[in-house]
Amino acid sequence: MQTVVITGGTSGIGLAAAELFLKHQWNVAVVGLEADKGAQVEQQLGQQYSPDQVLFCQADVSKAAEVEKMRQAVIAKFGTVEALVNDAGIVIHGELHETSEEDWDRIFAVDVKGTYLVSKAFLPGMIKQNRGSIVNISSVSGMAGDRAMVAYNAAKGAILNMTRAMAIDYGKHNIRVNVVAPGPTNTPLFHQDKAKFAKNSPLNRIVEPEEVAAAIYFVASDAGSAITGETIPVTAGFEISTGQPM
Ligand code: NAD
Repeated sequence: MQTVVITGGTSGIGLAAAELFLKHQWNVAVVGLEADKGAQVEQQLGQQYSPDQVLFCQADVSKAAEVEKMRQAVIAKFGTVEALVNDAGIVIHGELHETSEEDWDRIFAVDVKGTYLVSKAFLPGMIKQNRGSIVNISSVSGMAGDRAMVAYNAAKGAILNMTRAMAIDYGKHNIRVNVVAPGPTNTPLFHQDKAKFAKNSPLNRIVEPEEVAAAIYFVASDAGSAITGETIPVTAGFEISTGQPM
């Protein structure tokens, strides 16, 4: 049985991805900040699938010591890791002059350094087994700019180029690294006016977390075996327009 580690897997897109991997008979290690929520998710998914297939690890992805402890727990339960989904992320709103240094550092610590630390933890195992797939979750906000979201735009943009560099470095070890870039998605993180955002989509709606999970699973699994270094948008067409006014 293959194993996937999903950071930020106790809610939203990460949780939808955890369910999809479980449906395809993978072992799933879900990483999150909150112990209570994690225990609840572990119990619920364990009941629905098998407790042998599910593990929750509490870890802040921005802290190397917590990431290392998490890695040890995952390896102790499952032995090897074939795929990693770096989904944990936060969002900060505001124009640059309104963004505090603390907020700037925090979003880079979670979204960018977290992706670095968790990848760094699992890459040696993937190199050793000459096999692995990493999916980094960026955003349409990494592909273009938004109003008053400069810190998020910068952090999610960094993930795109980091992914290309990782794909170039680790291809020789049969490790693929890709980005899934969701558009506005119906999760706890998305606080803005859903109806307004829906109007900017050719499909007239925002995205559901299960639809992002489908792309994550596709590119993480052998179905995406020739895809590496790419950015896969899942946006309901949100980003394709030139912005021509209606
Ligand atoms: P979410 O808030 O449900 O998921 C984010 C998860 O990350 C949460 O479970 C949170 O607890 C966890 N997390 C935050 N900081 C963490 C840390 N330091 N260590 C470990 N876990 C941490 O929201 P979501 O929409 O499912 O977001 C998942 C990813 O998708 C994020 O990277 C987000 O930026 C990205 N994304 C979301 C949208 C959207 O509209 N919802 C759009 C584009 C991209």
